[in-house]
Amino acid sequence: MSITTRENTRPVQVGNLQIGGSDKVVIQSMTTTKTHDVEATVKEIHRLEEAGCQVVRVACPDERAADAISEIKKQINIPLVVDIHFDYRLALKAIEGGADKIRINPGNIGKRRKVEAVVNAAKEKGVPIRIGVNAGSLEKRILEKYGYPTADGMVESALHHIQILEELDFHDIIVSLKASDVRLAIEAYEKAAEHISYPLHLGITESGTQFAGTVKSSAGLGAILSKGIGSTLRISLSADPVEEVKVGRELLKTFGLSDNAATLISCPTCGRIEIDLISIANEVEEYIQTIKAPIKVAVLGCAVNGPGEAREADIGIAGARGEGLLFRHGEIIRKVPEETMVEELKVEVDRIAEEYLAQ
Ligand code: SF4
Repeated sequence: MSITTRENTRPVQVGNLQIGGSDKVVIQSMTTTKTHDVEATVKEIHRLEEAGCQVVRVACPDERAADAISEIKKQINIPLVVDIHFDYRLALKAIEGGADKIRINPGNIGKRRKVEAVVNAAKEKGVPIRIGVNAGSLEKRILEKYGYPTADGMVESALHHIQILEELDFHDIIVSLKASDVRLAIEAYEKAAEHISYPLHLGITESGTQFAGTVKSSAGLGAILSKGIGSTLRISLSADPVEEVKVGRELLKTFGLSDNAATLISCPTCGRIEIDLISIANEVEEYIQTIKAPIKVAVLGCAVNGPGEAREADIGIAGARGEGLLFRHGEIIRKVPEETMVEELKVEVDRIAEEYLAQ
């Protein structure tokens, strides 16, 4: 059976962004603040926006949170997703408050009239619904059928929720099938792409701390992304959500799926090293986080193999005794004093990024 790759999924409009229907993969994250604390939530969203987050989700566990949506919406620039479990009144409030997408499983809402109320409100405002299947909370009947969480069971659950929406002629749907078991998540997304043509939201849930979670999420989502599956993703980390965005961006860059972020190339260092490469690489990595052009910046420990090894770099420096060599596409353009080489590199990075963005 053939799969639906991200280009072939149904395009779904989330605020001013389209998810699905193209090869773009949108980066999401979720706030860690209490949603009713508007000030703290907005502050965190601004940090996420700055880091490159394109869609942000907030939890909506109670009425206070739902009441805060309209105020949060006024103060942020990226689409806002409101995460609701079961309570259809909170979903209605969130839609009324200006949510750009809601995450709710229609099969968990309860009575038909409640489902219809949510779907009609979403339809009226053009608000899509994300169905979020989680291996850890599959329906009882599915668990009984399969014995334990399986990829088939997860897809069956997703199809059940999709069917409820389709019966109400609702098609602005995005689907996630998260699991903390990486192999299960990969299998579930592969199977989903065989049966579902709505955009898929990728994630490895409860993946762990910044270090372990980064490895786990990258391994899992990398395998899925490389097959052409997935139109949006969230890296879940027990860490500052800004880190989730950074990992997401890096992952997309790895697969050539990012056209708005700079990439750092840095050598592993060896006995030929002539400069304090590790701290320079970290400084440059931090600096290019805010660059919105897909340029490549290299930082190399020496000039022996340096510039030639990083021929694809738009700009780079290689250490030489007491100085640095500034190079473009493998060709040395000038020598710079060691003390100022990082600053000179930053100026060149800005210039090349500006040139690229002006094209
Ligand atoms: Fe070693 Fe130079 Fe290569 Fe870095 S660039 S790994 S210092 S040879």
